[in-house]
Amino acid sequence: YAGVEALAELESLARDALRMYPKLRPNDMRWVLIEAQRTLLPGLEPTLAEYTERVLRKRNIEVYTESRLASCVDGVVTLDRSDIEPYRSETIVWTAGQRPSPFVADLGLPLDDRSRVVVDEYLAVPGFPATYVIGDAAAVPDPDGGICPATAQHALRQGRVAAINAAADLGVGSRTPFRYRNRGLAVTLGRWRGTAQVKRVSFTGPLAWWMGRSYHLLMLPGLGRKARVVSDWTLSLVFPRDVSQLGSLQKPRRLE
Ligand SMILES: Cc1cc2nc3c(=O)[nH]c(=O)nc-3n(C[C@H](O)[C@H](O)[C@H](O)COP(=O)(O)OP(=O)(O)OC[C@H]3O[C@@H](n4cnc5c(N)ncnc54)[C@H](O)[C@@H]3O)c2cc1C
Repeated sequence: YAGVEALAELESLARDALRMYPKLRPNDMRWVLIEAQRTLLPGLEPTLAEYTERVLRKRNIEVYTESRLASCVDGVVTLDRSDIEPYRSETIVWTAGQRPSPFVADLGLPLDDRSRVVVDEYLAVPGFPATYVIGDAAAVPDPDGGICPATAQHALRQGRVAAINAAADLGVGSRTPFRYRNRGLAVTLGRWRGTAQVKRVSFTGPLAWWMGRSYHLLMLPGLGRKARVVSDWTLSLVFPRDVSQLGSLQKPRRLE
């Protein structure tokens, strides 16, 4: 859900920044979200996807589902539908598609159709003794069927299981299968807005936003880091948003 989250957060940041530029108005901005599938946030309850679309549209974000980017040469965006005129864009953020590092393909291990290494429920590569692959690089069987989604939630837990199984190969302890079941998903949509789903229960609005943040805070390693983030978030409730930076920025790597 990185695309929806990035768009919602950036729009929220830009809207706050406008207060410092009285000559600019919210209507001077144009934000467009292009999604190839029929709904946003596939995998979440349809009501949450509808809520998300409503929240974005209310903020004057144009949302085009069942649409694909046909071209963006020289900053001119063209969709694969004729009812939307090609338009010029200052900033184009591409968040579709994600695949393992090309390094993985050169290892000589069996790959699936998305270039992920095929592993069994013990995270071991069939036919390659004592070889384990985890995280985004692996096609790990999901206990609920299919392949596990590529999330940090899964990667972290797979790491523990792979370590247990590697130790078992050395005669320490016994092998254990990967049985983690997704407990929930949270999507933030800018300040105080979000959606969350825990098992079959859905949440929206500030509560969902808070749940998503609290979960990520809990998962941060180390008390010191947690304390720093809590103090930063608490201060940001009292003071206006710092619009001069977007967390940590890195120089993007060239596409291969
Ligand atoms: C924008 C975005 C938002 C996301 N948000 C969430 C979220 O909210 N919640 C969630 O659970 N998941 C989220 N994910 C997914 C999550 O980040 C990944 O599933 C998780 O990081 C996978 O962990 P990993 O260790 O398999 O791979 P990575 O975290 O990608 O780590 C792989 C590392 O290997 C390094 N590497 C590559 N090639 C080599 C080499 N040849 N030698 C040595 N090192 C190498 C890479 O530089 C990288 O540091 C998000 C992903 C993206 C892109």
